[in-house]
Amino acid sequence: MSIFNIKQQNIAEQIETNMKKSKWQDWRWQIKNAIKDIKTFEKLSGITFKQTEREKLEQTVKKFPLSITPYYLSLIDVNDYENDPIFRQSFPSPSELIMFKHDMHDPLAEDKDSPVPHITHRYPDRVLFHISNTCSMYCRHCTRKRKVGDRDSIPNKNEIMAGIEYIKNNPRIRDVLFSGGDPFMLADNYLDWILTEVENIPHVEVMRIGTRVPVVLPYRVTDELVAMLKKHQPLWINTHFNHPREITASSSASLKKLADAGIPLGNQSVLLAGINDCPRIIKKLGHKLVQNRVRPYYLYQCDLSEGLSHFRTPIGKGIEIIESLIGHTSGFTIPTYVIDAPGGGGKIPIMPNYLLSWSTHKVILRNYEGVITTYEEPKSYLPIFCDRNCDECNLQLKLDEAEEYNAIGIEQLLSYQDDTISLIPGNNERIERRKNNGDNE
Ligand SMILES: *Cc1c(COP(=O)(O)O)cnc(C)c1O
Repeated sequence: MSIFNIKQQNIAEQIETNMKKSKWQDWRWQIKNAIKDIKTFEKLSGITFKQTEREKLEQTVKKFPLSITPYYLSLIDVNDYENDPIFRQSFPSPSELIMFKHDMHDPLAEDKDSPVPHITHRYPDRVLFHISNTCSMYCRHCTRKRKVGDRDSIPNKNEIMAGIEYIKNNPRIRDVLFSGGDPFMLADNYLDWILTEVENIPHVEVMRIGTRVPVVLPYRVTDELVAMLKKHQPLWINTHFNHPREITASSSASLKKLADAGIPLGNQSVLLAGINDCPRIIKKLGHKLVQNRVRPYYLYQCDLSEGLSHFRTPIGKGIEIIESLIGHTSGFTIPTYVIDAPGGGGKIPIMPNYLLSWSTHKVILRNYEGVITTYEEPKSYLPIFCDRNCDECNLQLKLDEAEEYNAIGIEQLLSYQDDTISLIPGNNERIERRKNNGDNE
């Protein structure tokens, strides 16, 4: 596909006469001309809806707004648009208005786990920093659908500073993940300022940016942006391709710029019914990503956000997809399939079962071909008693800055120095009864 093809020229000419390639590739022009209503969509795509359909669509857009960049629109195959993965990810469906009991406003409890505005602090050593409330394209499957379009704004310096202060005051935070909205909706110099402030915090070791710009607005990856990002290493970027059709000449060019700047690239996909719920599609996507130096990172089970039910697949579909990848293709094209725990428990990895059985001396495993095999455990193994006192241990960590924190969760149950024998959920009836019996266990 050429960088400015006939279809793109046609769309461009309808928006503005005498369009030049340079204007089409101007990301600000793309944002300014993003398609935000059904009528304009119909005009530019050449697709027309029946009046009854249009009414339903208008109603949907009232609740969950529409925004498609002219670039992303140009990727739709209008001859089979109903099944088109680009169309389905960007164009509203009346199914979005169907609510179920299990649908949640904020399924990942990101708002509850927010100690200060714009920060989600869920894990011990890393935070999500929402530095942009806006996107160029509104993904129909957005997990933060509740927020889409309601306040398209960029937090001001004072708001950002409050988040930075929080990170400064929490020395355990070593990884800051910038998300949004899309952080690349910020002007270069504003993003530069934020990255500088955060990397100057002594305990911050790495920064990450999550962005869909290479997919929906690849022209945003300008030489100036890349030169700015290059100053802030180690900086990792995760993007969000869901279908091999999204990898075009333009998106490849944007990925090349980032990779050439030495920025490690990852990709997070969402498993979406009717879009990519197919082992061959996910495998093809993985192959195309690694050709572009992008490492598949996560494959997400679709969240329980309001209006996403029609995108959800059974977990079995995800396991089937991972089964079709492990062993069958390069290890580094295989993402980790995860469910983001409703209620805010974080990401839970899901895998086919490979460990079939075990005894004290052997484990029984199966491989991707169905071959069942055995692995002999060592005849003798001297367990290393760990009391987290690394200075006394024969294994050498011996780093000056090797700070150690107490183990939590399952790690705590496995640890040697902690006497905890079980983790008991809150409001456990049996334990409550013990308390009432005067036992303060
Ligand atoms: C996904 C996520 C992270 C990062 O998780 P990783 O597994 O380290 O990529 C951090 N915070 C929140 C709230 C998240 O949802």
